[in-house]
Amino acid sequence: MNRIEMIPVNSPLLEGNEKKYLSECIETGWISSEGPFVHKFENAMAQETGRKYASAVSSGTSALELAFAALDLEAGDEVIIPSFTIISCVSAIIRCNLVPIFVDSDLNTWNTNLEFIKKAYTNKTKAILLPHIYGLPIDLDPILDFAKEHNLFIVEDAAQMHGQSYKDRKCGSFGDISIFSFYANKLVSTGEGGMLLTNKQEIYLRVESLKNQAFIKGKRFYHEDLGFNFRMTNLQAAVGLAQVEQLEKFVLKKKLVGELYQEGLSSIKNIQLPVKQTPYATNIYWAFGLVLKGSLEGRAQEITTSLRGLGVDTRPFFYPLHKQPIIQKLGFAKNSVSLENAECLGDNGFYLPNGLGIDLKQVDKVCKSLRQILG
Ligand SMILES: *Cc1c(COP(=O)(O)O)cnc(C)c1O
Repeated sequence: MNRIEMIPVNSPLLEGNEKKYLSECIETGWISSEGPFVHKFENAMAQETGRKYASAVSSGTSALELAFAALDLEAGDEVIIPSFTIISCVSAIIRCNLVPIFVDSDLNTWNTNLEFIKKAYTNKTKAILLPHIYGLPIDLDPILDFAKEHNLFIVEDAAQMHGQSYKDRKCGSFGDISIFSFYANKLVSTGEGGMLLTNKQEIYLRVESLKNQAFIKGKRFYHEDLGFNFRMTNLQAAVGLAQVEQLEKFVLKKKLVGELYQEGLSSIKNIQLPVKQTPYATNIYWAFGLVLKGSLEGRAQEITTSLRGLGVDTRPFFYPLHKQPIIQKLGFAKNSVSLENAECLGDNGFYLPNGLGIDLKQVDKVCKSLRQILG
């Protein structure tokens, strides 16, 4: 039997200074979070986004948890969050004793917008979590105005947006706190890792303390708060710094692969491809998703299985948070109004291989395979 070589959904690219910086860690013995690459990496990300403060942590998930722990919120306060996003977003809210209020997303951009947010707003709303989805940012300005008017905190989840801009401002620079993930499939990777960025010194200091067990300077092992160990190691930061140095090139590669997919798949009927451009941003295609419609609706499982048979791996879109068994069991899905777009995207969307390490022949093969199955 011939073994088919699979084209993976993600393959990282580690061809810059990663090895050199890692060797430095090993040669100097600095491997823990105390090493010098941590600050270098934080400074590079602060500079990249134009933020005043950056704090490196162990994952995007822990950055979200620290974000809600560091804001001035009380148990029972409501946080508006799109249903169409990753579980980390809602687990951070629930672990901080806050109440998630789910809102829908637009079928075209796959992002939430002010109209959905307005419908969920109550006098208990204290914050909005804004995760940009798959490479196209949320239309932020109307939401930021609304938040200002109603005194709401904004947490920007830019985990999929390294190097992306909204209008002429960098993603990762909006709201009270922004977070990034550096998981292996993100545009900047440290294997596992995350970062929290803010312009507010009091938030930064609280995050720095909470991520490090809330140790107190001068009085070690004496604690006035319960913290976490969410520190990033020097080894991870060494890789991260080398990756940020290449960010511009990485974004260009994602865009090129995205454009090739747009061309190669444009003849297929009944699939919706990602929005190329809006008045406020150009897609960088962190993930290249497609959504089945018309006669193809409901056939995602069958189609992705056929693709796998041809050596093409895929990933399903997010399964909506308000439909997650654990969220229903905890009683947080009850208030959800109609979130039919999130459900439609979850049922009919999946994304194609587009890791930074992909070669263009592989992109071509993915297009051919899809045309063969759907054409
Ligand atoms: C990847 C991701 C996260 C979580 O990051 P981890 O580093 O995997 O914990 C959070 N939010 C979004 C939108 C993500 O894509």
